[in-house]
Amino acid sequence: MLHQPPKYKAITLANFKKNELIERNLTPAQKHHVEVVGQVLPFKVNNYVLDELIDWSDLPHDPIFQLTFPQKGMLAPQDFQSVAQALKSGASKTELNHLVNAIRHNLNPHPAGQLEHNVPVFKNTRLKGIQHKYRETVLFFPNQSQTCHAYCTFCFRWPQFVGMDGLKFAMQESRTLADYIRANSKVSDVLFTGGDPMIMRASRMEAYLEPLLTQKIPNLRSIRIGSKVLGYWPYKFLTDPDADEMLRLFERVVKQGYHLSFMAHFNHVRELETPAVEKAIRRIRNTGAVIRTQSPIMRHINDHPHAWRDMWRKQVSLGCIPYYMFIARDTGAQSYFAVPLERCHRIYREAYQQVSGLARTVRGPSMSAGPGKIQILGTVQIGNENYLNLRFIQSRNPEWVGKPFFASYDAEAFWLDDLTPAFNQEHFFFEESNHVLGMN
Ligand SMILES: *Cc1c(COP(=O)(O)O)cnc(C)c1O
Ligand code: SF4
Repeated sequence: MLHQPPKYKAITLANFKKNELIERNLTPAQKHHVEVVGQVLPFKVNNYVLDELIDWSDLPHDPIFQLTFPQKGMLAPQDFQSVAQALKSGASKTELNHLVNAIRHNLNPHPAGQLEHNVPVFKNTRLKGIQHKYRETVLFFPNQSQTCHAYCTFCFRWPQFVGMDGLKFAMQESRTLADYIRANSKVSDVLFTGGDPMIMRASRMEAYLEPLLTQKIPNLRSIRIGSKVLGYWPYKFLTDPDADEMLRLFERVVKQGYHLSFMAHFNHVRELETPAVEKAIRRIRNTGAVIRTQSPIMRHINDHPHAWRDMWRKQVSLGCIPYYMFIARDTGAQSYFAVPLERCHRIYREAYQQVSGLARTVRGPSMSAGPGKIQILGTVQIGNENYLNLRFIQSRNPEWVGKPFFASYDAEAFWLDDLTPAFNQEHFFFEESNHVLGMN
C-alpha cells in the first residue's frame, strides 16, 4: 500500500532530464530525440505514467513509452535534422519558433478547420465552445479543459493556452450550452471533451454542469465525459483533494435523471492493470455512471489483435463497455502511427473473434471523416474481384447512418481519401449530395 497519497508531478521538456527514471533508462540518443521532437510535438508525462505504467526494461518498444515519449521517427528526417541543427547552433527563440511553426503547419493542416466547420450559430452568435455535427450529440469544449494529465504522442490538440477566467466564465459558457440544447429538441446527448475535462477541479466541473442540473432538460438524456484520466492519473478519483467531491458530482448527475457515460480513452491493457486504476474504475461505477472505452489503433502501440483482445477482456472484467476502435488519420506525424484500413479491419476481426459477446459491443474500426464516422466492415469477394465494404456509423446526414457501401479493394489505403468507389461509379453516394444539416 502507498503510505502517502501520490502528488501529481508533470514532467516536460523543461525538466525531464532531472527525472531519475528517465536519466537512468534513456540512452543519450533517446534523450536527444525527445529534446528535438519535443520542440514540435507535445511532450508531457507524469509520475504515475513513469512509476507505474512504463516497462523500463523494454525501451524503446514499450507501448506506453511510445504513447508518451517523442520518438525520432515521428518527424520527417529533414525536419528532425533542421530542428537538431537549430538547437545545436544555439538559434534564437524567434528563429526556433519560426522553424517549429513551419513544421507544425505542414504536419497538421486539418483539425482547426474541422472544429470551425461544425460550430453552430445560435441567436446570431457563433458558439465557439460547441461543436454540433451529428443530430443527436453536441460536443462541448470547456474553456478550462484544454490540457491533459499527459500528452499522447499521436495527438495534436495540445493546449494553446491556460485559461485564467474563473467560475463565472464557466457558468456563462454552460448556460449558453443549456439554452442551445433546450432549443434543439433532437439533441439527446452532450459530450464534455477537451483536452481532458477531468483536468478540472470538481468545483469548476460543477459550475459547468450546474445549468444542466438545476433543471432537467427534457430532451437531454445522456451526459458524456470524454477523458483519459483513468489512463494517465487515476488518483483523480482516489487521493486528489477533490476526489470525493467529483464522485459526488457524478452521483448528482445520475440522481437528476441523466445517464452519465464516462468515455474512457485507453490505448493498451497496461493502463488497466494498476491497483489505482482498478480502484478508480470501481469508484466511478459506484456513482451510477457507466464507463465506455475507446482508442485509436496505432502502430508501435496496439497494432496487434492480442493487444485489443487483452484490453477488451480486461475492460469487461472491470465492468467497462468497449465502445469504439478509431483509425488514425494519415497526416503528418500520424504516418509514424497509421495502419492501413484493411489491416485495421483484420486486427479488429481477429480480436473480435477471441472475445465473448460482452466485448463485442465495440464498433470499428472507424474513420472520423468529413461526411461522418465510417466503419470498415471488411473485404468481400464478388466474382473475381475484391471490394472493401463500409458503412456509416454516424453521419452529418442522418439518412446515411447504417447504409452499407463498397469501395475498390486497396490494401494500401489509409483513409477515405485514398479509396475509390467500386463498380466504376464516379462518386460515392455521399459525394453527390450537398445536404447540409439544419441545426435549429
Ligand atoms: C463520435 C462523435 C460524436 C458521438 O457519436 P456517437 O456515435 O453518438 O458516439 C458526436 N460528435 C462528433 C463530432 C463525433 O466525432
Ligand atoms: S488524452 Fe486525448 S486530448 Fe489529451 S493528449 Fe491524449 S489524445 Fe490528445
